[in-house]
Amino acid sequence: MSASTSPPPRFKPNRALIKVSGAGLGSDNPLDPDSIEFILERVRVALDMGIEVALVIGGGNILRGAEQKILDRTAGDMAGMMATVVNGIVLKDGLQESGTSVLLQSALPVERVAEPVNVDRAESYLEDGGVVIFAGGTGNPYFTTDSAAALRAGEIGADLILKGTDVAGVYSRDPARGEARFLSEVTYREITEGELGVIDLTAANICRKTGIPMIVYDLFKKGNTRAALNGEEIGTYVYSEAK
Ligand code: UDP
Repeated sequence: MSASTSPPPRFKPNRALIKVSGAGLGSDNPLDPDSIEFILERVRVALDMGIEVALVIGGGNILRGAEQKILDRTAGDMAGMMATVVNGIVLKDGLQESGTSVLLQSALPVERVAEPVNVDRAESYLEDGGVVIFAGGTGNPYFTTDSAAALRAGEIGADLILKGTDVAGVYSRDPARGEARFLSEVTYREITEGELGVIDLTAANICRKTGIPMIVYDLFKKGNTRAALNGEEIGTYVYSEAK
C-alpha cells in the first residue's frame, strides 16, 4: 500500500491523547499490578517530557459488550463502559499516589467517582500540568474506546494520538492470515478503504475529519512511548491526506 500524499514529518506533541487498551492493565489478572505500574510509568515519561497528557482508557481486560453471552448487546456495552470506569479509577489512584494531579471524567454518568465530560475543565486541567482520564467511552453502546479517543482528541485539541497496542503497528493485512507488510505510514483514507484492522473504522473516520495524526505502536516495549512522543520512527504513523 502506498500513501497517496507524502506524510508530514513526525513531531513531539504539545498535547497528546494516549489511548490505552484495557489489555494494558492486565489479562489473566484483569488488574495486574506490574502491568498497571508499567502503564503509569509511560504516563510519567510523557509528563517528564513536558507534554500535556490526556488518557482514554479501554475496558477489554474486564469485558467487551459484544463478547458477552448472557447479556444482550446494549446491556453488554453498558457493562463494558462501566469496565472502563473501573480502569479509570485504577489509573487515577495510581497516578495520584505518585503525586500527579488527575481529573477523571466519564461519558457515562457515575458522579460519585468521575465528573461528567467537560472539555473546558479538562483543558484547563491539562494546561495546569494535570492528567485527564476520559472513561466511559463515548457514553453510547455500539462504539469503542478508539472512537472515544478520536472524539476527545478533537474536542481537547490534542495534536497527536498515541494508540498503544500489543502489535508493532499497522500491517497490509492481518498477519495471522498470511504474509503481511508492515506499514510505517498510512493515511486514514487507506485505513477506512482497506479495512486494515487495528484502528476501528468509526475512529479512523473521525480522525480523518479532525486531521489529528495517530501513532499505532507496541506500547508494551519499553522505550517505545518516549520514542513515539519524541517524533522518532516507531510504529505506524497514520495521517490525513492533504485536503
Ligand atoms: N463501549 C461502548 N461504547 C463506547 C466505548 C466502549 O459500548 O463508546 C463498551 C463496549 O462494549 C466495549 C467495551 O466498552 O467492548 C470496552 O471498550 P473497548 O473494547 O474499546 O476496550 P479496549 O479493547 O480498548 O480495552
